[in-house]
Amino acid sequence: MRAASLERFDGLADRFLADIEPLKEAGALVVGIYCTYAPRELVSAAGALPVGLCGKKQAPIPAAEKTLPANLCPLIKSSYGYAITGTCPYFAAADLLVGETTCDGKKKMYEFLGAVKPMHIMHLPFATGAAQEAYWTQEMRRFKEFLESATGNRITEDGLREEIRVQNEVRRLLARVLKLSSGACSPLSGLDMMAVSEAKSYVADPRAYAAMLRDLAAELEAMARAGQSGVATGARRILLTGCPVGRGSEKVVRLLEESGAVVVAAENCSGVKSFDLLADESGDPLVALARRTLCIPCSVMTPNAGRLSLLDRLTEEYRPEGVVDLTWQCCHTYNVESPMVQGHMLGKHGLRTLHIETDYSEADTEQLRTRIEAFLELL
Ligand code: SF4
Ligand code: SF4
Repeated sequence: MRAASLERFDGLADRFLADIEPLKEAGALVVGIYCTYAPRELVSAAGALPVGLCGKKQAPIPAAEKTLPANLCPLIKSSYGYAITGTCPYFAAADLLVGETTCDGKKKMYEFLGAVKPMHIMHLPFATGAAQEAYWTQEMRRFKEFLESATGNRITEDGLREEIRVQNEVRRLLARVLKLSSGACSPLSGLDMMAVSEAKSYVADPRAYAAMLRDLAAELEAMARAGQSGVATGARRILLTGCPVGRGSEKVVRLLEESGAVVVAAENCSGVKSFDLLADESGDPLVALARRTLCIPCSVMTPNAGRLSLLDRLTEEYRPEGVVDLTWQCCHTYNVESPMVQGHMLGKHGLRTLHIETDYSEADTEQLRTRIEAFLELL
């Protein structure tokens, strides 16, 4: 049984363009963002509209490969492909872009992307610590100044603090929805959780999104109390980790759930990583944003102990029976971390990990299905 309020999230991405039209006509700028390190609070505090642009579909990749090497992560090629083919309505709607120097492929791709639309680059440090935090706070300030000059609006401390409060509320509510997967019978599937969480990239009004999340959480909590589940009884509980997934690149989540498993938590940027950490709602809001985002345990960080501690917490809370570590082809940072993750999950939690390296195409779907079915039988 699927919660009725989930349908409202299915259509959010399609409604986004219609929702922002009057705001655009009234002069609001749209800022395309590619990564979890991008502080959407600053965009909103400048009176602009953030929209997630991370490429998740195969279709524009051949066009991107005319410029970018074929042996590059599909997420980067898809993002660039959308930019040059004019096939992504969200990209078309964006007036400005913000990128961060995360992995090498992405930051070099941004050099090409900067020729397509006005682009601001934030230089991300690759470690946590006081010096890195001071530097990243300065990058927040530079982005603030860029937004103020582009929009003609001043970002006030109070305005920014209010946007932080709203985004924290969204994060708390996403965590409340996911928390329901920790029970013995989960009222929602991993695919549904992915759609709910991904929808935050396509909302013109985060307060309205928060209200929808509140309704969904209440409905799911009632379902859980009544023992109603959105997942087949006996489904194997899987913790997904690794690269981000979304509408169009959900192949592995779909195969897992078609094969009798349920993704109870996704330790990636489309899942828990995007809402696990809250920003401080008091003090200097730029420092609060810098501190929160710098602690995101992306594999571009070195060392990246935060990923293992997050996996520990999720394992304790969601009691997975196995781990699936998804790496997009040619994503060096997640690929290099994979043996570390496998060793950690087996040594500390006695859990086996299936490492899957794939791209967005359907070419290996049946082969993956066989590997996933064999893995689930082992658990
Ligand atoms: S995996 Fe890393 S680079 Fe990719 S969206 Fe997440 S934080 Fe950004
Ligand atoms: S999946 Fe890996 S290679 Fe691709 S953009 Fe993210 S960090 Fe970079």
